[in-house]
Amino acid sequence: MPDDPEVVYVDNNATTRVAPEVLDAMLPFLTRFYGNPSSIHTFGGHVRRHVEHAREQLAALVGAAPNEIIFTSCGTESDNAAILSALESDVRRRKVVTTRVEHPAVLSLGKVLQQRGYHVDYAPVNHKGQLCLDALCRMVDDETAVVSVMWANNETGNLYPVLEIAEIARQHGALFHTDAVQAVGKLPIDLRKSAIDFLSLSGHKLHAPKGIGALYVRKGIKFNQFLIGGHQEYGLRAGTENVPGIVGLGKAAELAAEHMAEEQTRVRALRDRLEQGILSTCPDARVNGNPASRLPNTTNISFEFVEGESILLLLDRWNIAASSGSACTSGSLEPSHVLRAMGVPQTAIHGSVRFSLSRFNTAEEIEFIIEKMPPIIRRLRELSPYGRHGRPSRESTAPEK
Ligand code: PLP
Repeated sequence: MPDDPEVVYVDNNATTRVAPEVLDAMLPFLTRFYGNPSSIHTFGGHVRRHVEHAREQLAALVGAAPNEIIFTSCGTESDNAAILSALESDVRRRKVVTTRVEHPAVLSLGKVLQQRGYHVDYAPVNHKGQLCLDALCRMVDDETAVVSVMWANNETGNLYPVLEIAEIARQHGALFHTDAVQAVGKLPIDLRKSAIDFLSLSGHKLHAPKGIGALYVRKGIKFNQFLIGGHQEYGLRAGTENVPGIVGLGKAAELAAEHMAEEQTRVRALRDRLEQGILSTCPDARVNGNPASRLPNTTNISFEFVEGESILLLLDRWNIAASSGSACTSGSLEPSHVLRAMGVPQTAIHGSVRFSLSRFNTAEEIEFIIEKMPPIIRRLRELSPYGRHGRPSRESTAPEK
């Protein structure tokens, strides 16, 4: 067992641990410095300065100006606010173009918009999850208010050509939004050189706490308020600021920028070792997604003839925390909409497990998982009707080690 008796946590696309430096930065704002940043007094002004410092730290991570950052409560709020704002900006344009593999924060909003009479087009992906760019281009026209395409997929880690798509949207006078919740902190992002109008991010995916997010709104783009009330956030997002969360997100952004180059290489090597270790010891397993272009921390592997949930339960006995889909869908037994859009066979969808790493994972933890996986898969296949009566899996006849 690894030294840390608590948990071998490889579910970082669901949420991440708060970095110790982030917690240290936040604590004074939960204890001593509880002033309201909107207050006139010096006590509130001190807090205000820290909120503005966090805005600078976050802006620096994504190559934006501080006044292009609005703090929100989460990635979902940022996604909703951006798309709804775009629709309100030009009421003659009643069309949204997005993809079939977005997070529910965009897909479910799309459904609601359809019920409200908007036209929503969903661009398809191929078997590797790559976007069919031609199909998307054909969908974007002069009726389109907003194109929304995620930067990185939460289930497969696949990356999408958002810089290119932003240019296409602009050529048609449409706004472009990207859900970069899984990309920020994991990949270098420089919005200065892009045609991206809105970008969503979320603190709890980059070692800041839950309940804090942000929306980048490009200078010159009209933002229509989503939360209406007081004058916080330049009068664009009402509600007293979550100061500890904001300070934590600022610190997490600074740390991500500091460690990015080094951690990308280290985490990628751990992910590759995990993937190779599993594929070489577990037969009838395959990687879902596009290995040539994906996040360095994510691998999504399908194991034929077993249920992903059963694998998770057996991993859980060893205190290994992984996921069988996105956190939002793993509460239900609905097959993953992302893998379905990719045309992954049903049997492989049901046997899929996502491992998502962070800079806190160690080589020892990865070896521990590689050691535990083959007996788990073997045992489940022996119990499975496919393993016993259908197509016998190769290892179901092998003696237990
Ligand atoms: N978008 C993506 C790609 C995500 O992975 C998530 C969370 O899993 C969200 C949006 C929602 O973010 P939040 O949990 O901060 O609302």
